[in-house]
Order: sequence, then C-alpha cells, then structure tokens
Amino acid sequence: MKEYFCACCRHPRKLKYQRHLRSAHFFQILILSSLVSLMLYPWFGLKSFSSVILVWAVFEGVYKSLYRKDLVCPYCGFDPKWYKKDVKFARQKVEEFLKQNPNSPILKRAKKMEEYQHLQ
Ligand SMILES: [Zn+2]
Repeated sequence: MKEYFCACCRHPRKLKYQRHLRSAHFFQILILSSLVSLMLYPWFGLKSFSSVILVWAVFEGVYKSLYRKDLVCPYCGFDPKWYKKDVKFARQKVEEFLKQNPNSPILKRAKKMEEYQHLQ
C-alpha cells in the first residue's frame, strides 16, 4: 500500500492498488485460465489453453482500471495521470469536481484562508 500526499490539496492518501499485477494475481490467472481451458477443451482441444491470454488481459484491464480509479483524489478530484498528459484538462476536472462537491475540505480550507485574510 503506497502512502503519499496529494499534489493538489496536500491531503494524505493511500493507494489500495499497485500499478502492476502482483505474484498472487498471476497465481489466480493460472488457476482461472486452467479451469476455463478444461471447460473449453472438449470443443476447442489444445487451442483452449490460449485462454490464458484472454484471462490475463481481463485481469490486467480490471486491475488497471481499479488503479486509475484509486489514483483520483477523493478530496479535490486531482488525477495525476491526466496531469501528466494534459495539465489544462486536469485542472478542468478538479474545478468540475469542486463544483459538484461544495463540501470538499479543500474549499473549506480556502474559505478559512479568506476569512483569515479579511481579519488582518
Ligand atoms: Zn487532493
């Protein structure tokens, strides 16, 4: 589990998922694909063992999508992947997130900062 601070709002974050599959996932892929192969063997013969590729692709796709979903900050909506690709679009996404979530801690902090500046 990776721990870090959000680059936008500085809230502590924890990632549940890693970028790549772990050894336990490959074991699951092996078991699942062997089951699928055994089920398909009467119809496809030895070609059924190529189901490993399909199962691996499904695992990789699902795991990557979970990782990408986990990367987005729940407090400010900042997505570091989009920030790497297109900064303006990443900024737009954060603004949309803050419009949809007016009770976000980042907005509360900004309001407190405004009040503090008015006091001085
Ligand atoms: Zn954030």
